[in-house]
Amino acid sequence: MKIIMLGAPGAGKGTQAKMVAEKYHIPHISTGDIFRANIKNGTKLGMEAKEYMDKGLLVPDELTVKILLDRVAQEDCQGGYVLDGFPRTIPQAEVLDRALAELGDAIDYAVNVDVPDENIVNRMSGRRACLSCGATYHMVHIPPKKEGVCDTCGQPLVLRDDDKPETVKNRLGVYHEQTQPLIDFYEKKGVLKTVDGTQDMKDVFQAIAAILG
Ligand code: ADP
Ligand code: AMP
Repeated sequence: MKIIMLGAPGAGKGTQAKMVAEKYHIPHISTGDIFRANIKNGTKLGMEAKEYMDKGLLVPDELTVKILLDRVAQEDCQGGYVLDGFPRTIPQAEVLDRALAELGDAIDYAVNVDVPDENIVNRMSGRRACLSCGATYHMVHIPPKKEGVCDTCGQPLVLRDDDKPETVKNRLGVYHEQTQPLIDFYEKKGVLKTVDGTQDMKDVFQAIAAILG
């Protein structure tokens, strides 16, 4: 099963994608996590991506598409995957589409986690991330067992640089302009499914699992 998670930054794509990956035994692929791992390791790709990420802008398609296509070509993706944060532009979606079509394949579901802008700034300012294992928490809604420490790997949790309110506003603008058109794109392909992302995370997951079967 090949699934795309769509939605504004902070809508809960990553939170849900991790649960989908676990239930359906497929890899969770987050381009944001791949960039952050590269930044942490000081790679050339990481340094290039950071310039854009810190401003709340998208990393250029040329860079992003290549890392995604390399990743989905790996052995563990043979049985499908859940993409979180990719595609974010129409050209990215078209490249993915063509790459899949060449293999006689296509995306099965594009799940749109729908959360209005009013809720987003609160979601992002409360988000705490583990840069070691990629786990995500929310200080109020989904707190870790021990404050400031990742439940999974014991590393410290941080407020991402790009989750500061002024950057979040830019990211929302970029979302509406460049990413939201993907909702129409996948609707036309007949694979779009929308869930109410304002519910409790367990209820959001139940809605997604009911769609995926
Ligand atoms: P995205 O991957 O779409 O950017 P995340 O999954 O990281 O979003 O979620 C953003 C923030 O909102 C995180 O702090 C997360 O813990 C929290 N969150 C996710 N889903 C819910 C939910 N259903 N209700 C409340 N908070 C949530
Ligand atoms: P995320 O972790 O999905 O919130 O992504 C964090 C940041 O990484 C985004 O604000 C972008 O700067 C960059 N990024 C992640 N995925 C993409 C993508 N598909 N295209 C362009 N930029 C991306």
